[in-house]
Amino acid sequence: MTGKTITIDVRQDLFGANEEAAAINAAVFREHGNRVFDIMGSVGTGKTLLIESLCERLGDKYRILMVAGDLATSIDADRVAQHGVDTLQINTQTACHLDARMVRVALRDVDLSKYDVIFIENVGNLICPAGYPLGAEKKIVIVSLTEGPYMIRKHPLTIKRCDAVVINKIDLAEALEIDVDAIERDIREIDAKIPVVRVSAKTGTGIDDLIQVLGL
Ligand code: MG
Ligand code: ZN
Repeated sequence: MTGKTITIDVRQDLFGANEEAAAINAAVFREHGNRVFDIMGSVGTGKTLLIESLCERLGDKYRILMVAGDLATSIDADRVAQHGVDTLQINTQTACHLDARMVRVALRDVDLSKYDVIFIENVGNLICPAGYPLGAEKKIVIVSLTEGPYMIRKHPLTIKRCDAVVINKIDLAEALEIDVDAIERDIREIDAKIPVVRVSAKTGTGIDDLIQVLGL
C-alpha cells in the first residue's frame, strides 16, 4: 500500500445529494398537482412584498401555500399570512440557503393536495440558493434597483441558473439614477432568452406580467 491520497469533492457530493432530493420533491409536487416557484434574491429586494402582491391577485383563483426560509424569525411568513394564505416558516439557523431536503422535511406533515400553488421564499442571499434546486418548476430571481447598477454582472451564475428575472423597485429608477435598460442588457448578455419582468411590488406595476411569465 503506497501513500495514496484520495480527494473527495465534498461540494460535488453535496450538490449530487441535493439534486436527488430535488427530483423527489418535484415528483411529489407533480403527484399532488402543485405548481411550485422558488423565489430568490438578496435581503431587502422585495421578495416578501412580491409574494404578497401575487397572493392578493391570485388568492381567489388558487389555493396558495407560502413557505418562507429564513435563518431566524417568522416575520415574512407572518406578513403573507395576513393575506389569508397558509404559510410555513423554515428557520435554517445557520444555513444561508434552503436545500431540497429541508423543504421535504418541512412539508412532510403538510397535506399537499390542499394547494394549487406553492411560493417558496428562499433565504435572502443572491449567491448559493441558485445552486440548490428545491424541486420547483421555476426558479425566479429578484434583483432590486437599490442593489446598484452592477448586481447582474457580479452574479452571472445566478442568472444562468434561473428561469426568470424580476427587476424590482422600478418606481425608484429616477431617484436612484439607475438605467433599467442597462440592467436588462446585462441580463441579456448572460442569457438572451430568459424572461425579464420589470416590477414595482409597491405600486403593482408589472405584477400581471409576472403572473403571465409564471403561467398562472
Ligand atoms: Mg422577505
Ligand atoms: Zn448558502
